[in-house]
Amino acid sequence: MKRIKKNLHSIIVFLLFETVAVTLWLTKDNIFYLLNFSYIGCSIALGVFLYSRKYKYARRVVQLLVGLYMLVYLGLICGENMQIEGFWYYLFTGVFEAATIHYAVAKIFGPLIFGRGWCGYACWTAMILDFLPYKTPSQPRKRLGWLRYVTFAASLIFVAALFLAKVGNIERIMFWAFLIGNAAYYAVGIALAFACKDNRAFCKYVCPVTIFLKPMSYFALFRIKCDKDKCVSCGKCRRVCPMDVDVTDNSRRRKNGTECILCMECVKNCPKNAL
Ligand code: SF4
Ligand code: SF4
Ligand code: SF4
Repeated sequence: MKRIKKNLHSIIVFLLFETVAVTLWLTKDNIFYLLNFSYIGCSIALGVFLYSRKYKYARRVVQLLVGLYMLVYLGLICGENMQIEGFWYYLFTGVFEAATIHYAVAKIFGPLIFGRGWCGYACWTAMILDFLPYKTPSQPRKRLGWLRYVTFAASLIFVAALFLAKVGNIERIMFWAFLIGNAAYYAVGIALAFACKDNRAFCKYVCPVTIFLKPMSYFALFRIKCDKDKCVSCGKCRRVCPMDVDVTDNSRRRKNGTECILCMECVKNCPKNAL
């Protein structure tokens, strides 16, 4: 009983993903969904378990387990475009498959529960960016957030144009779009990280997925909260935050609140255990 209590968070995460896995397996009559979501659930539950044991690289382990699986296995080996272009593609073809399911679970409805956990633990773009040297931003935010609307519109226009022009073999084009899109994301992400001295500059200014993630995560069930009675306003949480969130403000409107990726750096570094 004591052991169950100690690992309760890991068990809840695992059961949450298992519910999605079994539901999709039975409704879609496809065992892939059972294996896919079970693997992701196990990876995240392992991360939560390692975090509870204070393992320093718990989050990085999950990032690599899930990110590499999605990038290499689903993307490169299975040929599924799991990026935003793939989402538009499946949406336009009217099928609830691959990227549409991925977006629904990880990026549209999931954030109502776990906020931007996707960005902290699973994204294969950030998986690489987080290896770069600028873990916490040393400069104030730039007014470049409008760029995300440009990339969002560009992805939509690109796929819509393929459909309107009735281009043949769009599936093949989607595979190449996945390769080229990822290469571009990594190139721009790394260049921006060095230019802004901020690993997460791409996430803050360019990533089109944030158009879904930010409004949905505003309502997130799981949020980091501050115990005002314990907080001594030392500002350490703010200094270690990669996303410039004012986590001492408990309101949903807190500064950069929809940017929190639940990385737990603030929690780990708070000297008063106030978070
Ligand atoms: S903002 Fe975009 S690139 Fe950054 S972690 Fe989230 S989904 Fe990945
Ligand atoms: S690190 Fe902890 S004590 Fe310091 S300001 Fe943040 S919440 Fe308060
Ligand atoms: S440091 Fe805290 S507030 Fe900042 S992104 Fe990580 S979990 Fe969120």
